[in-house]
Order: sequence, then C-alpha cells, then structure tokens
Amino acid sequence: MIITLESGANVDELMQAVGRNLERHPGVTPRLYQFEGTAHRVSEIHLVGDTKQIPVEPLSALPGVRSVVRVSRKYRLIGRPPGSHEPAGFEYNGVRLDDQTLTVFAGLCAVDTREHVAAMFRALAQHGITTTRMGVYKPRTSPYDFQGLGRDCLPWLLELAGENGIRVIAMEVCDVRHVEEVRTAMERAGNPTGVLLQVGTRNAQNFELLKQLGQQRDFPVLFKRGMGITLEESLNACEYIASEGNPNIVFCLRGVKSHLSEPHRNMVDFALVPVVRRLTRLPVCVDPSHSVGNLHRGPDDLPDIFHVTGQGVIAGATMVLVEFHPNPAAARCDAHQALVLDQLPQLMRYVERVRAAYEDVRP
Ligand code: PEP
Ligand code: MN
Repeated sequence: MIITLESGANVDELMQAVGRNLERHPGVTPRLYQFEGTAHRVSEIHLVGDTKQIPVEPLSALPGVRSVVRVSRKYRLIGRPPGSHEPAGFEYNGVRLDDQTLTVFAGLCAVDTREHVAAMFRALAQHGITTTRMGVYKPRTSPYDFQGLGRDCLPWLLELAGENGIRVIAMEVCDVRHVEEVRTAMERAGNPTGVLLQVGTRNAQNFELLKQLGQQRDFPVLFKRGMGITLEESLNACEYIASEGNPNIVFCLRGVKSHLSEPHRNMVDFALVPVVRRLTRLPVCVDPSHSVGNLHRGPDDLPDIFHVTGQGVIAGATMVLVEFHPNPAAARCDAHQALVLDQLPQLMRYVERVRAAYEDVRP
C-alpha cells in the first residue's frame, strides 16, 4: 500500500498518525520515501507486509494525504503509480538525466590508452557533448580476455575528463570494491567529473551488488536489463537499488540473447521503451552497440546501429549509450562494433532529428 502525501504535508506527524493506524496490524511497517522530482519533492509512506486487512479510508482521511493505493506489483518504488504522469529523472553534476532531455553517452567500450581517451574526449568537446562511457572494469566471457585497466587508469581518466568538460562518465562496476576505488579516485582528483555507475547485463540479478549500489547516494546508477530474463524480473532486480535508498536510477535496454536475432548480437528490444516508461518512473536509455554488435550498413549507407538508435529515441528513450573508438583496429574490447570519431556528428544530427520528430508528434 502506498500513501502519497500532499506537498507541504507534515511528514513526521503523518508517520506517527499512520503508525497509530497500524497498531492493530502487527507485521506491517511504514517506510518513508522521498524523491526529488523535477518539479517538487514527492513524499510517500509505503506499508510493507500483509496489508490486505488494512482499510484505506482512515488513512486517506488523514490531513496531508493525497492518495492511498494498494499496489500489487513488487517494484513499488521504481514503479509508476497507475495514472501518474509525474516526470521521471534527476539532475546529476549539472546534467539532466530525465525523460525530457536527450543525452548521448558516446565513448570507449574499454579504456585502453591515454591517447585514445584524450582523442575521444576532444571529439566530444568539439561537439559540445559532456557525457561519455568508459569501461574500466570489464566483465568478459573468457578469463583470458582483456579485463579492463581497473583502478590504475582512474587518476588520468578522471583528470582528462575534467580537462575536456566531461560532466558524467558511465562506468560499469562489478563489485562493491570497484565503487570504493571510484570514490577514492574521485576524491583524490578533486571530483573533476561525475560517474554514473553502470550495472552490466551479467550482474542484473547480482542482488548483493544492487543493494550496495542502493546504499550509497553519491553516484547515480545505470541499470542494464538482464539479457536472459524477463522485463518483469529485471524491474524487480532494479528495485533492489531503490529499496536500499538510492532513487537516482536510469533503466537501460540493451537487447536480449536469442539466436533469432542473428546477424545482430542480441534481439533489439527497444519496442519496450514505452513499456518501461509506463511501468516505471525511470528515464530510459538504449544501448544500440551491444544490441546490434556489428557495423553493418543498409543500402542507405546508415549503420544498423544508427537505425536501432532511432527506434529507441522515437519511442521515447532519452539516453543513448554508444561505443566509439578513435582507432577500432587497436581497441581491446568490442572493436567490431565501435563507431569511429568521424561518425559522431552524423549520429548526433540523426538522434537530434529523431528526438525532434518525437517531440513534434507527441500530444
Ligand atoms: C557495456 O556496456 O560495457 C557492457 C558490457 O554492456 P552489457 O552489460 O549490456 O553487455
Ligand atoms: Mn562493449
């Protein structure tokens, strides 16, 4: 059961009043959640436990209560209350990660050399882009493949980011130790940029990692859906982050594993963008690189990666995570799907036009 409070309601008094209402229902506990919405702060009291016997009326009659709804879905925090049109998202380090602002996180699959990172950042800066992706910890299918440079590259990576005006780096973490390494490196560097901690598809149900990411509020989280589980399972997994106290989450679609997707690496699932937006109050990201997994082009000479990006953006996705490399032949991971820097202006023009078309047709 979710009790939504009026803005300006006395939260402490309402918590006490709700507590008194629950005295005859042992096993049901109230938990307060507050979200910084784009327009105002939203306060909710969630009743956790078996709430079937709890009548709605005495709670909805309390002064300061806007609504009381019974929820059947498990992902009650990231879930969008039925009928709600509340905008989604948040601001982090001066960048809006929401459902209105298009952001392109273009960058390397895996950080390899300082020169490559510098070339990437220079290209982004030239186009006024302040968001990027940079893999530092790489979960690989084989233990003998390049595992990422790890914490050793963080000092110069963060420094270069700051020098080039990068405001947010999307960076996968596979373990809570990685979060600590990122935090330490950021502090030592004087926080020259921001980090969006990425949960990779392989860790989508690593519940302990998800809980740890939820217990910190310094960094927002980019959650990638599991490649072999249902959307519902991914949403429930994502809820772990919110349930531990971190509401700043972006949900990313990146395709699902199926041989039926061939010749694409994964079955592109961007038709689910409006579904995720309807079911949750999270902004939605699409990752065309890992969905398509190759650089093939259509007879229109546009890479499939462009086309599926367009599918995600026209469906309402507001963030794109896409791999580039200044010299793909030298890339140590996912070279076969890396766009080159010359393609950056074309991709930006393409997504901006598609977003404008979306805004044009939306009521
Ligand atoms: C990535 O984005 O670097 C990545 C490994 O993607 P995924 O977890 O979706 O495979
Ligand atoms: Mn990759």
